[in-house]
Amino acid sequence: MMTVYRKPPQSFPAGSAFFRLPGALLMVLDENWSIQMMSESWREVLGRGQEELRWRPFIEVVHELDREDVIDRLCRIGEELSTVRFSCRCRKADGTYVGLAWGVSLDPDHMLFYAAAHETGVNLSEQEARLPEVFVDGLTGLPNRGLFLDRVTHAMQRAQRNKQMRFAVIHCGVDRFSVINHSLGNRIGDLLLIEIANLLRRSTRPTDMVARLGGDEFGILLEDIKDATSPVRVIKRLQENCVLPFRLHEHEVFASMSAGMTLGSAQYEHADLMLRDANMAMTRAKAQGGGGYAMFDRGMHEEALRRLDLELDLRRALERQQFEAYYQPIVRLRDMRLVGFEALVRWNHPERGLISPAEFIPLAEESGLIVQIGRWMLEQACAQMRRWQRAFPRRPALTVSVNLSARQLMHPDLLPDIRRTLRESGLSPRHLKLEITESAMMEDAERAIELLEALKRTRLKLMLDDFGTGYSSLSYLHRLPIDTVKVDRSFIMHVHEKAADRSFVETILELAHKLGREVVCEGVELPAQEALLRRLGAEFAQGYLYSRPVTAAHAEMLIIDDLENPGRLLGKARGASPAQRMDLPERAT
Ligand code: C2E
Ligand code: MG
Ligand code: MG
Repeated sequence: MMTVYRKPPQSFPAGSAFFRLPGALLMVLDENWSIQMMSESWREVLGRGQEELRWRPFIEVVHELDREDVIDRLCRIGEELSTVRFSCRCRKADGTYVGLAWGVSLDPDHMLFYAAAHETGVNLSEQEARLPEVFVDGLTGLPNRGLFLDRVTHAMQRAQRNKQMRFAVIHCGVDRFSVINHSLGNRIGDLLLIEIANLLRRSTRPTDMVARLGGDEFGILLEDIKDATSPVRVIKRLQENCVLPFRLHEHEVFASMSAGMTLGSAQYEHADLMLRDANMAMTRAKAQGGGGYAMFDRGMHEEALRRLDLELDLRRALERQQFEAYYQPIVRLRDMRLVGFEALVRWNHPERGLISPAEFIPLAEESGLIVQIGRWMLEQACAQMRRWQRAFPRRPALTVSVNLSARQLMHPDLLPDIRRTLRESGLSPRHLKLEITESAMMEDAERAIELLEALKRTRLKLMLDDFGTGYSSLSYLHRLPIDTVKVDRSFIMHVHEKAADRSFVETILELAHKLGREVVCEGVELPAQEALLRRLGAEFAQGYLYSRPVTAAHAEMLIIDDLENPGRLLGKARGASPAQRMDLPERAT
């Protein structure tokens, strides 16, 4: 872009003695934020003067990590504000940085920006209390990610000079924070983060650095540690401190934290790689159920690479027709008749064999591919069910349930896609059910309710999947326009032997029935579970006791079985040994 030089207005003291005053840090920027003029004093502060910096973009002087924020503020001048104030780190000729506080205003007649700065007096390695605001997280008052990385870099440099010096980076996050945030509201979510920040400060030494990295994630830098037991001790201490509920206004919130850590080593070239590895370890700790910690190791790095590979393969899997829809029967407990199927996606990977959705659905969600995969599953399931209805006109129509992820639910094309698929397949909306998990709903409950209501207007049926695994499920069940609740497998697993699980299931059944909802129990594997659920009044069941998810061809055999021997579907499975039952028409798992 060409910079048009304009003479500064006479009224501006640029040409005046003021510009040469000792200590006056002044700049004139043109409309493109290029430096037109600088006062003399800059030479002392930056070690650079007008000769070097004239016509250079102002932003070049600013520390890379602060640039986004600075640009953001500069953009507001003239629009919302006539003057903006901010602090940032500025680069000196010797490559070090100085903290400066700025006030920048616009002269709209001449389209020039006048910038005045003063040193914040902050030595960048000093304690957080004296940090300029640009290094501080507004909510918690902790140093932010930029400063944290800076300090990690500094520690790495120290460790290079002093081989005895050991340090560690911990990355920790609140388990299921989004669920807490969305069920109790952002205000309570914010209060929780403030409490956690305080807890982290209390659990570390004053010389350790605790920073908020973003969202519910925090970083801890431990310098001068003896060995790997130090970070473990810190993590344990903070996890112990999490045992009691946090009192946030009228709420008592239980929150656990997962943590990952990595030790400083010569292998690390950049601070963000250390943070990446600690983050990876935290992800591992979260995957193991939360509330724990993990130490980064090479294996994790390889695992991450494997996931990347998998994601690449996933992108090509649709066009290469590697997905297949499997079907798992849902039975009515009253008469043991088959009433429908749940469609479950399977990925036939050419080298790795059949990959379970638990492994690739999260990946598909992260990458957005779930939208295409979901659309494909919907088409398959509707077309298949319509074929079955035509092939078996004598039997009462079966329904098919299709799983929807949060990402699909929020996608603007969802409704048109569903309408088109129903039209093309000829399936009546009454025979299509959509399963939405409680956690998908909780990501934005208000919006989800609106979307579900729009879906309901197409006259299809809605199911709440994995019920009981969310946060405050019972309290908002009545607000959801759903027809059926699917009780999560984790409660069914021990329902026949654990009093707590039994009462939980009992309560859900009671509540659901009061609200006019039906209940499907997932993961029924044992006759004892089935007998109890029937006694408690559950309408439907699904699980390995009846059949694993099977191919369409096998599912068709189950339909024929049910037609020829009504109510015997279960009998067949029951006659088999548990091993055979598991191996019922399933091809592989
Ligand atoms: P889900 O919707 O809750 O599906 C039930 C899962 O429980 C299935 O796992 C099923 O194979 C398994 N299951 C059923 N009965 C039993 C049992 O008696 N014992 C045990 N141990 N497991 C049982 P699957 O097929 O691996 O799917 C896992 C999850 O992946 C599903 O949970 C669903 O959330 C997701 N998923 C599967 N297909 C799709 C899809 O097409 N789209 C979306 N968005 N998600 C899908
Ligand atoms: Mg499901
Ligand atoms: Mg489920």
